[in-house]
Amino acid sequence: MLNKLRVNFIANLLKQPFQQENELCLYLISYAFLIFCVVIHIFFLICYLVQGTKFFVFLNCGSLLVYIVAFLFFKKKKYKPVGFIISIELILYASVWAYMCDISSYIIGYFLLVIVMLTLFPYGTMKVRRNMVLIILGEITLLGIRSAHTAPSIVFSEPFTHFITMVNIYVMLIGTIIEISINTLVQFIVSGIKDGRLVELTSQIYTDPLTGLYNRRYTEIYFNTLKTQDQHICVALLDIDDFKQINDTYGHPCGDEILVFLSKFLQSNLRKTDRIFRWGGEEFLIIMENVTITDAQSVMDKLRSRLAETEIQTKQKGTLGLTVTVGVAPFDLTNPDASIEASDKHLYIGKRNGKNQVVI
Ligand code: GH3
Ligand code: MG
Ligand code: MG
Repeated sequence: MLNKLRVNFIANLLKQPFQQENELCLYLISYAFLIFCVVIHIFFLICYLVQGTKFFVFLNCGSLLVYIVAFLFFKKKKYKPVGFIISIELILYASVWAYMCDISSYIIGYFLLVIVMLTLFPYGTMKVRRNMVLIILGEITLLGIRSAHTAPSIVFSEPFTHFITMVNIYVMLIGTIIEISINTLVQFIVSGIKDGRLVELTSQIYTDPLTGLYNRRYTEIYFNTLKTQDQHICVALLDIDDFKQINDTYGHPCGDEILVFLSKFLQSNLRKTDRIFRWGGEEFLIIMENVTITDAQSVMDKLRSRLAETEIQTKQKGTLGLTVTVGVAPFDLTNPDASIEASDKHLYIGKRNGKNQVVI
Protein backbone atom coordinates (compact mmCIF):
# COMPACT_ATOMS: atom_id res chain seq x y z
CA MET A 1 0.00 0.00 0.00
CA LEU A 2 2.73 2.45 1.08
CA ASN A 3 4.89 1.33 -1.81
CA LYS A 4 2.01 1.91 -4.26
CA LEU A 5 1.47 5.41 -2.86
CA ARG A 6 5.16 6.12 -3.24
CA VAL A 7 5.24 4.82 -6.81
CA ASN A 8 2.13 6.86 -7.72
CA PHE A 9 3.63 9.97 -6.14
CA ILE A 10 6.87 9.55 -8.06
CA ALA A 11 4.99 8.72 -11.28
CA ASN A 12 2.97 11.93 -10.88
CA LEU A 13 6.15 13.87 -10.37
CA LEU A 14 7.71 12.37 -13.47
CA LYS A 15 4.65 13.35 -15.50
CA GLN A 16 5.77 16.96 -15.20
CA PRO A 17 8.26 17.90 -17.88
CA PHE A 18 11.27 18.80 -15.71
CA GLN A 19 14.29 19.66 -17.79
CA GLN A 20 16.73 18.35 -15.21
CA GLU A 21 17.04 17.21 -11.63
CA ASN A 22 17.72 20.78 -10.38
CA GLU A 23 14.31 21.87 -11.56
CA LEU A 24 12.62 18.90 -9.87
CA CYS A 25 14.50 19.74 -6.68
CA LEU A 26 13.45 23.41 -6.78
CA TYR A 27 9.85 22.51 -7.60
CA LEU A 28 9.57 20.18 -4.60
CA ILE A 29 11.20 22.46 -2.04
CA SER A 30 9.25 25.51 -3.28
CA TYR A 31 6.00 23.57 -3.11
CA ALA A 32 6.67 22.19 0.38
CA PHE A 33 7.95 25.47 1.81
CA LEU A 34 5.14 27.56 0.36
CA ILE A 35 2.62 25.38 2.18
CA PHE A 36 4.73 25.08 5.32
CA CYS A 37 5.44 28.82 5.67
CA VAL A 38 1.86 29.89 4.93
CA VAL A 39 0.55 27.48 7.59
CA ILE A 40 3.10 28.77 10.11
CA HIS A 41 2.30 32.44 9.41
CA ILE A 42 -1.44 31.86 9.68
CA PHE A 43 -0.80 30.08 12.99
CA PHE A 44 1.35 32.99 14.24
CA LEU A 45 -1.22 35.50 13.05
CA ILE A 46 -3.87 33.81 15.20
CA CYS A 47 -1.47 33.60 18.19
CA TYR A 48 -0.56 37.30 18.04
CA LEU A 49 -4.20 38.27 17.49
CA VAL A 50 -5.14 36.36 20.65
CA GLN A 51 -2.12 37.84 22.46
CA GLY A 52 -3.05 41.34 21.20
CA THR A 53 0.42 42.21 19.79
CA LYS A 54 -0.61 44.41 16.84
CA PHE A 55 2.92 44.85 15.49
CA PHE A 56 3.38 41.12 14.93
CA VAL A 57 -0.16 40.78 13.57
CA PHE A 58 0.80 43.27 10.82
CA LEU A 59 4.18 41.60 10.34
CA ASN A 60 2.53 38.22 9.72
CA CYS A 61 -0.05 39.78 7.38
CA GLY A 62 2.86 41.30 5.42
CA SER A 63 4.55 37.90 5.29
CA LEU A 64 1.38 36.28 3.94
CA LEU A 65 1.22 38.93 1.18
CA VAL A 66 4.81 38.09 0.28
CA TYR A 67 3.79 34.42 -0.02
CA ILE A 68 0.98 35.36 -2.42
CA VAL A 69 3.63 36.91 -4.69
CA ALA A 70 5.80 33.79 -4.28
CA PHE A 71 2.81 31.62 -5.21
CA LEU A 72 2.29 33.61 -8.43
CA PHE A 73 5.90 32.90 -9.42
CA PHE A 74 5.37 29.23 -8.53
CA LYS A 75 2.31 29.06 -10.81
CA LYS A 76 4.49 30.40 -13.63
CA LYS A 77 7.01 27.63 -12.91
CA LYS A 78 9.65 30.20 -11.88
CA TYR A 79 11.08 28.32 -8.93
CA LYS A 80 14.29 30.29 -8.43
CA PRO A 81 12.51 33.58 -7.54
CA VAL A 82 10.23 31.56 -5.22
CA GLY A 83 13.29 30.30 -3.33
CA PHE A 84 14.73 33.80 -3.04
CA ILE A 85 11.45 35.29 -1.87
CA ILE A 86 11.06 32.58 0.79
CA SER A 87 14.70 33.01 1.94
CA ILE A 88 14.46 36.81 2.13
CA GLU A 89 11.10 36.66 3.91
CA LEU A 90 12.45 34.24 6.53
CA ILE A 91 15.57 36.40 7.07
CA LEU A 92 13.55 39.62 7.37
CA TYR A 93 10.91 38.05 9.63
CA ALA A 94 13.51 36.64 12.03
CA SER A 95 15.52 39.91 11.93
CA VAL A 96 12.51 42.12 12.70
CA TRP A 97 11.40 39.74 15.45
CA ALA A 98 14.88 39.69 17.02
CA TYR A 99 15.17 43.48 16.60
CA MET A 100 11.89 44.12 18.43
CA CYS A 101 12.40 41.43 21.10
CA ASP A 102 15.82 39.76 21.37
CA ILE A 103 17.65 36.77 19.93
CA SER A 104 16.17 34.37 22.47
CA SER A 105 13.26 31.96 21.81
CA TYR A 106 15.23 30.07 19.10
CA ILE A 107 14.37 32.75 16.54
CA ILE A 108 17.84 32.09 15.11
CA GLY A 109 16.37 28.75 13.90
CA TYR A 110 14.80 30.61 10.97
CA PHE A 111 18.26 31.60 9.76
CA LEU A 112 19.28 27.95 10.06
CA LEU A 113 16.39 26.97 7.76
CA VAL A 114 17.60 29.44 5.13
CA ILE A 115 21.21 28.30 5.44
CA VAL A 116 20.21 24.64 4.97
CA MET A 117 18.02 25.68 2.02
CA LEU A 118 20.86 27.59 0.40
CA THR A 119 23.24 24.69 0.98
CA LEU A 120 21.01 21.93 -0.43
CA PHE A 121 19.00 23.65 -3.17
CA PRO A 122 20.38 25.40 -6.25
CA TYR A 123 18.40 28.65 -6.06
CA GLY A 124 21.31 30.62 -7.43
CA THR A 125 24.95 30.24 -8.36
CA MET A 126 27.35 28.96 -5.70
CA LYS A 127 28.74 32.49 -5.36
CA VAL A 128 25.33 34.07 -4.71
CA ARG A 129 24.41 31.39 -2.18
CA ARG A 130 27.76 31.63 -0.39
CA ASN A 131 27.38 35.43 -0.12
CA MET A 132 23.87 35.04 1.25
CA VAL A 133 25.13 32.65 3.93
CA LEU A 134 27.84 35.19 4.86
CA ILE A 135 25.21 37.96 5.10
CA ILE A 136 23.10 35.75 7.39
CA LEU A 137 26.08 35.05 9.65
CA GLY A 138 26.82 38.81 9.79
CA GLU A 139 23.17 39.53 10.57
CA ILE A 140 23.14 37.00 13.44
CA THR A 141 26.26 38.64 14.91
CA LEU A 142 24.76 42.14 14.66
CA LEU A 143 21.49 41.02 16.24
CA GLY A 144 23.44 39.29 19.03
CA ILE A 145 25.43 42.46 19.79
CA ARG A 146 22.26 44.57 19.68
CA SER A 147 20.38 42.26 22.05
CA ALA A 148 23.24 42.42 24.54
CA HIS A 149 23.14 46.23 24.68
CA THR A 150 19.49 47.19 24.06
CA ALA A 151 16.34 46.49 26.05
CA PRO A 152 13.62 44.79 23.96
CA SER A 153 10.81 47.01 22.59
CA ILE A 154 8.23 44.23 22.95
CA VAL A 155 8.19 41.98 26.00
CA PHE A 156 5.89 38.97 26.18
CA SER A 157 4.60 37.25 29.30
CA GLU A 158 6.69 34.31 30.46
CA PRO A 159 4.17 31.60 29.41
CA PHE A 160 3.81 33.16 25.93
CA THR A 161 7.61 33.36 25.59
CA HIS A 162 7.84 29.64 26.43
CA PHE A 163 5.08 28.90 23.94
CA ILE A 164 6.79 30.87 21.13
CA THR A 165 10.10 29.17 21.96
CA MET A 166 8.49 25.75 21.64
CA VAL A 167 6.81 26.68 18.32
CA ASN A 168 10.08 28.07 16.95
CA ILE A 169 11.89 24.83 17.85
CA TYR A 170 9.19 22.85 16.03
CA VAL A 171 9.40 25.12 12.97
CA MET A 172 13.17 24.76 12.89
CA LEU A 173 13.10 20.97 13.27
CA ILE A 174 10.18 20.26 10.91
CA GLY A 175 11.53 22.69 8.30
CA THR A 176 14.96 21.04 8.40
CA ILE A 177 13.40 17.57 8.15
CA ILE A 178 11.38 18.71 5.08
CA GLU A 179 14.54 20.07 3.44
CA ILE A 180 16.60 16.95 4.07
CA SER A 181 13.74 14.60 3.06
CA ILE A 182 13.20 16.39 -0.25
CA ASN A 183 16.89 16.29 -0.97
CA THR A 184 16.97 12.55 -0.24
CA LEU A 185 13.85 11.95 -2.37
CA VAL A 186 15.41 13.73 -5.34
CA GLN A 187 18.60 11.65 -4.96
CA PHE A 188 16.42 8.49 -4.88
CA ILE A 189 14.51 9.52 -8.01
CA VAL A 190 17.66 10.44 -9.91
CA SER A 191 19.49 7.23 -8.99
CA GLY A 192 16.27 5.24 -9.70
CA ILE A 193 16.01 6.74 -13.16
CA LYS A 194 19.65 6.01 -13.80
CA ASP A 195 19.49 2.32 -12.93
CA GLY A 196 16.18 1.78 -14.72
CA ARG A 197 14.19 0.64 -11.67
CA LEU A 198 11.84 3.59 -11.89
CA VAL A 199 11.43 3.23 -15.63
CA GLU A 200 10.19 -0.29 -14.98
CA LEU A 201 7.82 0.87 -12.23
CA THR A 202 6.36 3.71 -14.26
CA SER A 203 5.95 1.53 -17.34
CA GLN A 204 3.87 -0.84 -15.18
CA ILE A 205 1.62 2.08 -14.29
CA TYR A 206 1.09 3.17 -17.87
CA THR A 207 0.58 -0.14 -19.67
CA ASP A 208 -2.28 -2.59 -19.77
CA PRO A 209 -1.10 -5.98 -18.45
CA LEU A 210 -3.25 -8.07 -20.83
CA THR A 211 -2.40 -6.47 -24.18
CA GLY A 212 0.81 -4.59 -23.35
CA LEU A 213 -0.69 -1.46 -24.91
CA TYR A 214 -0.57 1.94 -23.24
CA ASN A 215 -3.53 2.45 -20.93
CA ARG A 216 -5.83 5.44 -20.43
CA ARG A 217 -3.51 6.94 -17.76
CA TYR A 218 -0.77 7.41 -20.33
CA THR A 219 -2.93 9.50 -22.68
CA GLU A 220 -2.48 12.68 -20.63
CA ILE A 221 1.30 12.43 -20.88
CA TYR A 222 1.12 11.57 -24.56
CA PHE A 223 -1.14 14.54 -25.35
CA ASN A 224 1.44 16.81 -23.69
CA THR A 225 4.12 15.54 -26.04
CA LEU A 226 1.86 16.34 -29.01
CA LYS A 227 1.41 19.94 -27.92
CA THR A 228 4.60 21.23 -29.50
CA GLN A 229 3.73 20.10 -33.01
CA ASP A 230 1.57 21.90 -35.52
CA GLN A 231 -0.24 19.33 -37.67
CA HIS A 232 -3.51 17.53 -38.50
CA ILE A 233 -4.30 14.89 -35.91
CA CYS A 234 -7.30 12.54 -35.77
CA VAL A 235 -8.69 10.37 -33.02
CA ALA A 236 -10.51 7.07 -33.48
CA LEU A 237 -12.44 5.13 -30.88
CA LEU A 238 -12.76 1.46 -31.83
CA ASP A 239 -15.14 -0.90 -30.06
CA ILE A 240 -15.58 -4.65 -30.59
CA ASP A 241 -19.09 -5.57 -31.74
CA ASP A 242 -21.11 -7.89 -29.49
CA PHE A 243 -18.15 -8.74 -27.32
CA LYS A 244 -20.37 -9.67 -24.42
CA GLN A 245 -21.91 -12.37 -26.61
CA ILE A 246 -18.43 -13.66 -27.53
CA ASN A 247 -17.61 -13.88 -23.82
CA ASP A 248 -20.91 -15.54 -23.04
CA THR A 249 -20.60 -18.07 -25.86
CA TYR A 250 -16.91 -18.93 -25.74
CA GLY A 251 -15.93 -17.93 -22.21
CA HIS A 252 -13.92 -15.10 -20.68
CA PRO A 253 -10.44 -16.61 -21.37
CA CYS A 254 -11.33 -16.81 -25.06
CA GLY A 255 -12.47 -13.16 -24.88
CA ASP A 256 -9.05 -12.28 -23.45
CA GLU A 257 -7.36 -14.12 -26.28
CA ILE A 258 -9.36 -12.04 -28.79
CA LEU A 259 -8.37 -8.80 -27.05
CA VAL A 260 -4.71 -9.80 -27.32
CA PHE A 261 -5.19 -10.76 -30.97
CA LEU A 262 -6.90 -7.44 -31.77
CA SER A 263 -4.18 -5.37 -30.10
CA LYS A 264 -1.53 -7.16 -32.21
CA PHE A 265 -3.71 -6.77 -35.30
CA LEU A 266 -3.98 -3.02 -34.70
CA GLN A 267 -0.25 -2.68 -34.12
CA SER A 268 0.67 -4.53 -37.29
CA ASN A 269 -1.92 -2.83 -39.50
CA LEU A 270 -1.34 0.78 -38.43
CA ARG A 271 1.69 3.04 -38.88
CA LYS A 272 4.45 3.08 -36.25
CA THR A 273 3.56 6.70 -35.51
CA ASP A 274 -0.09 5.91 -34.73
CA ARG A 275 -0.56 5.54 -30.98
CA ILE A 276 -2.90 2.82 -29.73
CA PHE A 277 -4.30 2.83 -26.19
CA ARG A 278 -6.54 0.31 -24.48
CA TRP A 279 -9.21 2.82 -23.53
CA GLY A 280 -11.55 0.48 -21.64
CA GLY A 281 -12.63 -3.19 -21.62
CA GLU A 282 -13.05 -3.79 -25.37
CA GLU A 283 -12.46 -0.22 -26.55
CA PHE A 284 -9.29 1.07 -28.15
CA LEU A 285 -8.30 4.70 -28.70
CA ILE A 286 -6.08 5.50 -31.67
CA ILE A 287 -4.32 8.82 -32.27
CA MET A 288 -3.18 9.37 -35.84
CA GLU A 289 -0.78 12.18 -36.65
CA ASN A 290 -0.46 13.91 -40.03
CA VAL A 291 -3.78 12.74 -41.46
CA THR A 292 -6.88 14.55 -42.65
CA ILE A 293 -10.21 13.32 -41.40
CA THR A 294 -11.00 11.62 -44.77
CA ASP A 295 -7.61 9.85 -44.73
CA ALA A 296 -8.28 8.71 -41.18
CA GLN A 297 -11.69 7.41 -42.24
CA SER A 298 -10.28 5.41 -45.13
CA VAL A 299 -7.43 3.98 -43.00
CA MET A 300 -9.92 2.87 -40.38
CA ASP A 301 -12.32 1.45 -42.94
CA LYS A 302 -9.56 -0.65 -44.55
CA LEU A 303 -8.61 -1.89 -41.12
CA ARG A 304 -12.24 -2.71 -40.30
CA SER A 305 -12.88 -4.65 -43.51
CA ARG A 306 -9.55 -6.52 -43.26
CA LEU A 307 -10.47 -7.57 -39.72
CA ALA A 308 -13.98 -8.64 -40.77
CA GLU A 309 -12.41 -10.91 -43.42
CA THR A 310 -9.85 -12.39 -41.02
CA GLU A 311 -10.40 -15.76 -39.45
CA ILE A 312 -9.07 -15.61 -35.90
CA GLN A 313 -7.40 -18.77 -34.76
CA THR A 314 -8.00 -19.16 -31.01
CA LYS A 315 -6.18 -21.72 -28.86
CA GLN A 316 -9.31 -22.61 -26.99
CA LYS A 317 -12.29 -22.45 -29.37
CA GLY A 318 -11.02 -22.84 -32.93
CA THR A 319 -11.71 -20.22 -35.60
CA LEU A 320 -13.79 -17.12 -34.88
CA GLY A 321 -14.87 -13.98 -36.74
CA LEU A 322 -14.78 -10.47 -35.30
CA THR A 323 -16.12 -7.08 -36.32
CA VAL A 324 -15.58 -3.61 -34.89
CA THR A 325 -17.29 -0.24 -35.06
CA VAL A 326 -15.16 2.91 -35.18
CA GLY A 327 -15.94 6.56 -34.47
CA VAL A 328 -13.46 9.07 -35.95
CA ALA A 329 -13.08 12.81 -35.24
CA PRO A 330 -10.47 15.54 -35.70
CA PHE A 331 -8.25 15.85 -32.63
CA ASP A 332 -8.07 19.30 -31.10
CA LEU A 333 -4.92 19.56 -28.95
CA THR A 334 -6.43 22.33 -26.87
CA ASN A 335 -9.40 20.16 -25.95
CA PRO A 336 -8.62 16.42 -26.04
CA ASP A 337 -11.68 15.50 -23.96
CA ALA A 338 -14.11 17.14 -26.41
CA SER A 339 -12.37 15.43 -29.36
CA ILE A 340 -12.62 12.01 -27.74
CA GLU A 341 -16.24 12.72 -26.86
CA ALA A 342 -16.93 13.55 -30.53
CA SER A 343 -15.38 10.24 -31.66
CA ASP A 344 -17.46 8.46 -28.99
CA LYS A 345 -20.65 10.05 -30.38
CA HIS A 346 -19.72 8.86 -33.88
CA LEU A 347 -19.04 5.37 -32.50
CA TYR A 348 -22.47 5.37 -30.89
CA ILE A 349 -24.10 6.35 -34.22
CA GLY A 350 -22.25 3.46 -35.91
CA LYS A 351 -23.49 1.01 -33.27
CA ARG A 352 -27.06 2.25 -33.67
CA ASN A 353 -26.88 1.98 -37.47
CA GLY A 354 -25.96 -1.71 -37.46
CA LYS A 355 -22.29 -1.93 -36.30
CA ASN A 356 -19.27 -3.08 -38.37
CA GLN A 357 -18.72 0.41 -39.83
CA VAL A 358 -16.66 3.61 -39.54
CA VAL A 359 -18.42 6.91 -38.81
CA ILE A 360 -16.90 10.40 -39.09
P1 GH3 B 1 -21.63 -3.49 -28.59
O1 GH3 B 1 -21.56 -4.15 -29.91
O2 GH3 B 1 -22.79 -2.58 -28.45
O3 GH3 B 1 -20.33 -2.83 -28.24
O4 GH3 B 1 -21.87 -4.64 -27.49
P2 GH3 B 1 -20.81 -5.33 -26.56
O5 GH3 B 1 -21.37 -6.63 -26.11
O6 GH3 B 1 -19.48 -5.39 -27.22
O7 GH3 B 1 -20.70 -4.27 -25.42
P3 GH3 B 1 -21.01 -4.34 -23.88
O8 GH3 B 1 -20.58 -3.04 -23.33
O9 GH3 B 1 -22.44 -4.75 -23.66
O10 GH3 B 1 -20.07 -5.47 -23.31
C1 GH3 B 1 -18.70 -5.36 -23.28
C2 GH3 B 1 -18.16 -6.63 -22.69
O11 GH3 B 1 -16.73 -6.62 -22.67
C3 GH3 B 1 -18.61 -6.88 -21.29
C4 GH3 B 1 -17.35 -7.25 -20.53
O12 GH3 B 1 -17.50 -8.40 -19.76
C5 GH3 B 1 -16.35 -7.49 -21.64
N1 GH3 B 1 -14.97 -7.20 -21.20
C6 GH3 B 1 -14.48 -6.04 -20.73
N2 GH3 B 1 -13.18 -6.18 -20.42
C7 GH3 B 1 -12.84 -7.46 -20.67
C8 GH3 B 1 -11.62 -8.21 -20.56
O13 GH3 B 1 -10.57 -7.71 -20.15
N3 GH3 B 1 -11.66 -9.52 -20.94
C9 GH3 B 1 -12.80 -10.10 -21.42
N4 GH3 B 1 -12.75 -11.37 -21.79
N5 GH3 B 1 -13.95 -9.42 -21.52
C10 GH3 B 1 -13.98 -8.12 -21.18
MG1 MG C 1 -17.81 -0.84 -25.21
MG1 MG D 1 -18.54 -3.54 -27.69
